[in-house]
Amino acid sequence: MQVRTCSLTLWLCACLMVTGSMGFSAQAAEPTDDASREARMDMLEAVRQSTRDTADYTGRGTLSERVMQAMGEVPRHAFVGEDMQSRAYLNTALPITHGQTISQPFIVALMTDFIDPEPDHVVLEVGTGSGYQAAVLSGLVKHIYSIEIIPGLTESAGRALEQQGYDNITLMTGDGYAGWPEHAPFDGIIVTAAAPHIPPPLVEQLKPGGRLIIPVDNGYGAQQLILVTKDAGGKVKERDVLPVRFVPLTGER
Ligand code: SAM
Repeated sequence: MQVRTCSLTLWLCACLMVTGSMGFSAQAAEPTDDASREARMDMLEAVRQSTRDTADYTGRGTLSERVMQAMGEVPRHAFVGEDMQSRAYLNTALPITHGQTISQPFIVALMTDFIDPEPDHVVLEVGTGSGYQAAVLSGLVKHIYSIEIIPGLTESAGRALEQQGYDNITLMTGDGYAGWPEHAPFDGIIVTAAAPHIPPPLVEQLKPGGRLIIPVDNGYGAQQLILVTKDAGGKVKERDVLPVRFVPLTGER
């Protein structure tokens, strides 16, 4: 097993470069419960380390215990294909179907932490992908509305979430740039694909006091994770959180 990290440039590529496998035998179709739990604990340790390593950028040297607990409870292996079972608990982004990715656990934890999730919150996710981020949010907030532009991914994520018994998540196929006005306003919004700018409809659909976290591409290949906050009076502020790399937000506009 060999895992190479690229410390500060790590978050520019938003993933670990991995050669070989870790956690389970490469042949194992699915880990046992015990193996999965143990691998998840190792994953949490890697998330803690990434959090410390990036604290100078993010301003957060630790993430909330609630978020870490939720990360430790979700069986990430249930959201990746058979060919990725041996890598399911690495702290790295992994390929899923349709040329898309499941995000790096550290990035999932960080984005979740940055919306300050509370049990009575209603959250919008743009970019359902595998369904993993929605599953992490499931134990932290009241309801999640998640939009995915690729119908096949909405279907596979829906199947995985149902099989795992998550019952506070509503999925829709569509262009998340427009948000989901029927269920707005949202306490938190997480966008998991890089947008060319912050979509105005998402800012409009944020509650006063709400928080939006989104990767934005500057058009020259660099992306920045940005936190948008709306105060009680409706005033909107933005701040850079971390250089990252996400798949692009697609759709017509
Ligand atoms: N949150 C996902 C997870 O936990 O697996 C990871 C998502 S992946 C990094 C980004 C996803 O955003 C892809 O599935 C992609 O199809 C989706 N996407 C891209 N543009 C979109 C758009 N305009 N509206 C909704 N989803 C979009």
